[in-house]
Amino acid sequence: MATILLIEDEVTVRETLALNLRAEGFEVFTAADGMTGLDLARDESPDLIIMDLMLPKLDGLSICRIVRKDSDVPIIMLTARGTEMDRITGFETGADDYVVKPFSLGELMARVRANLRRARAGQPVQTTRLTATDLTLDLLARRANLRGDELKLTYREFDLLAELMRNQGAVLSRDLLLNSVWGFDYVGDSHTVDVHIRWLREKIELEPSSPRRIMTVRGVGYRFEG
Ligand code: CA
Repeated sequence: MATILLIEDEVTVRETLALNLRAEGFEVFTAADGMTGLDLARDESPDLIIMDLMLPKLDGLSICRIVRKDSDVPIIMLTARGTEMDRITGFETGADDYVVKPFSLGELMARVRANLRRARAGQPVQTTRLTATDLTLDLLARRANLRGDELKLTYREFDLLAELMRNQGAVLSRDLLLNSVWGFDYVGDSHTVDVHIRWLREKIELEPSSPRRIMTVRGVGYRFEG
């Protein structure tokens, strides 16, 4: 039986979640503030931690940082603040997943099971978010955010940018990009990649004519710098 530590100061949320997690067969420890939560994380070595971002005594991000120093336990962060910047900070401090309030119980339970499954399989939790300074891609929601604003990308532009960001610093050939973004059966030539790169630059570069993020590597392809 997996044990779950739930750190949440809102009593209704805490009790509802605890009740439902127990009904699913989990052993649940609860804490109403950050300090108690951190103590329980150390003493009980839970299999998964669900914690609120805003907590009395010690906030969720601080707990994340401390726990991550010696544990890979999956952490699901709950937050009422749904802005992109908060999410980015959460991931940078080591949260594996992020659920924005109000959320459905079904959604949270699905995330709990998915994170436990991945942790048991010894695999890193699937990346759901790619970040490069002020640019973020949410791979699940297929949303892009640049400098705090939503960035409108077409389907291909999104996939192309995701592929570049996943391989930050590496040179990707036009053929490789064509295969991974458009698929092996795509009928077209590598000029398609160049056209989409130009469109992407117009959207994410401060000066599209002298790009700093998506660099051209002459005779080879493209490299995402950050
Ligand atoms: Ca709270």
